[in-house]
Amino acid sequence: MSTQERETIELNLYQAHKKIYPREVKGRFQFKRKLAVVVLLGLFYLVPWLQMGGEQAILFDLPNRRFHILGLILWPQDFIFLALLLIIAAFSLFFFTALAGRLWCGYACPQTVWTEVFIWMEQLTEGGRNQRMKLDQAPWTWNKFRKKTSKQILWVTFALWTGFTFVGFFTPIRELANHIWIWQLGPWEMFWLFFYSFATYGNAGFLREQVCLYMCPYARFQSAMFDKDSLIISYDEQRGEPRMRGKKRRTENNPGDCIDCTLCVQVCPTGIDIRDGLQYECIACAACIDACDEVMEKSGMPKGLIRYTTEHSLSGKPSRILRPRVILYALVLFGLITGFVTAFMMRSPISINVLHDRNTFYRMVDSNTIENVYTLKIMNKGRETAQYQLSASGLPELSVVTDVDSDMLQAEPGQLISVPIKIRAPKKIANQRIHNILLSVMSGQHKNSEEVKYFGYKK
Ligand code: SF4
Ligand code: SF4
Repeated sequence: MSTQERETIELNLYQAHKKIYPREVKGRFQFKRKLAVVVLLGLFYLVPWLQMGGEQAILFDLPNRRFHILGLILWPQDFIFLALLLIIAAFSLFFFTALAGRLWCGYACPQTVWTEVFIWMEQLTEGGRNQRMKLDQAPWTWNKFRKKTSKQILWVTFALWTGFTFVGFFTPIRELANHIWIWQLGPWEMFWLFFYSFATYGNAGFLREQVCLYMCPYARFQSAMFDKDSLIISYDEQRGEPRMRGKKRRTENNPGDCIDCTLCVQVCPTGIDIRDGLQYECIACAACIDACDEVMEKSGMPKGLIRYTTEHSLSGKPSRILRPRVILYALVLFGLITGFVTAFMMRSPISINVLHDRNTFYRMVDSNTIENVYTLKIMNKGRETAQYQLSASGLPELSVVTDVDSDMLQAEPGQLISVPIKIRAPKKIANQRIHNILLSVMSGQHKNSEEVKYFGYKK
C-alpha cells in the first residue's frame, strides 16, 4: 500500500443515527396494539382522579409514608407486599416471554405505548411517511415552520400532561392541579413534573427506537428466556425466497412469495428487515405482519408470509406450549401469587415489635414472683384510632403489667407508640433458664402476637 493510499483511508468508528420514518399501517394486530394503547394510557391518565371513601383511590403518599391502594393503606412495615408485587411482575415477564416472546415490548411497554402516541401526533401534523421525509429535506418555509411548530406544541402539551399525571400518583392530584393553577408548586413537585415531562418528550419524541436498541436491559437478556418453542415474529424464508419483483418475477420460474416490495421494512419502527432473520432489535410490534398480509391479499397469495410462529414450527417440527421452563415459571408464579394473596388477607392492622430489657434478665417482684421487662412498640396500620389490650400466654398464670395510663395504649392511624411493659410469672412455674412465651396485642377483632424470650428463675 502506497503512502498516498494510506493517507486516504478513513476509518469511521461512529455511525451517525439515521432517522426512521415508519409508514402507517392498518391490520388486525395494529388494531389490538391501538386498543392496548387506549386502555393503558386511559388507565394512567384517569386512575389518579378516582376517589374512594373521600380519598384518592391510588396515591403513593411518600411524605406521609403511606400508600393508598383502593381503600387500603400500606405502611413502610408492609414493604414486603411491594417487594412481592415486584417479584410477581418479574416472574410474569419471564413466564409470558417464554410463552409468547416479546409480548411486553410490542403491546405494553411504556416506551412503545407513548411512542405510538407521539408518532400519531407527528402523522397528524406532518403527514404520512413520504410527506415527513420530504418535509425534513425541504428548506425552511412558513409551511414547514407551521407544521413543525404544531407538532412541538402537541408533543410538549402531552408531555406536560403526562408529567402532571405522574406526579399526581404521589401528591393528591386535585391539590396539585390547584397548586399549578395558583402557581404555587413545591420544589419537588416542580422538579418531578418537569423531569418526567422532559423524559416523556425525549424518549417518545426523539430517542424512540434508540431506547429499545441501546438502553433497554430487557432487550439484552430476554433471549435467555427464549427457546425454539417461544412465539416469535418471523419471515417464512422457505416460502418467500427467492424474492423477486416486477418484470423479473413474471419471467422467472418458481419465484418465492415475497414480491420484494419492502413494505415490511418501511413500517418497522426500529428500521430492520425481518427477512434477515430473528434480530434483537425486533420489538414484536407485528406491523410487518399486517403490512405483508395486506400485500399477500392484494397479490392473491395466502397471508402469513410473515407471522407469529416458533423456530421449531419454521423448521417443520411440532411446537410445544408446555415445556419445562414454562411449567417452572408458571408454578413459581402460582406460588408467589398464592403467597401474596394469603399474606394480604391475613395482614393485621396491628404491627408489633418487642425488645427485652438489655440490663436485666429478670427481677424479683416478691419472694414468689419474677418479672421480665420489655419495650413494646405498636404501629396502628388501620384507618381508625385503636385502643389496645395486652396478654401473654405460653406459661400458666402470666400477667402483663404496664405503668402507663390506658390512653397511652391508644394510637392514631399510622402512629407508632412505645410502651414499657413487665410480664410477671410465679417463680416456681418460670423455673427454666429460658421459656418461649407469646405476647398478644388486641384491638377489637384484630390481634397480633409475637414470640418472646422469657428468662426464668433457675438456681
Ligand atoms: S411485505 Fe411481504 S412481500 Fe413485501 S417485502 Fe416484506 S415480506 Fe416481501
Ligand atoms: S421486524 Fe416487524 S415486528 Fe419486529 S419491530 Fe420491525 S415491524 Fe415490528
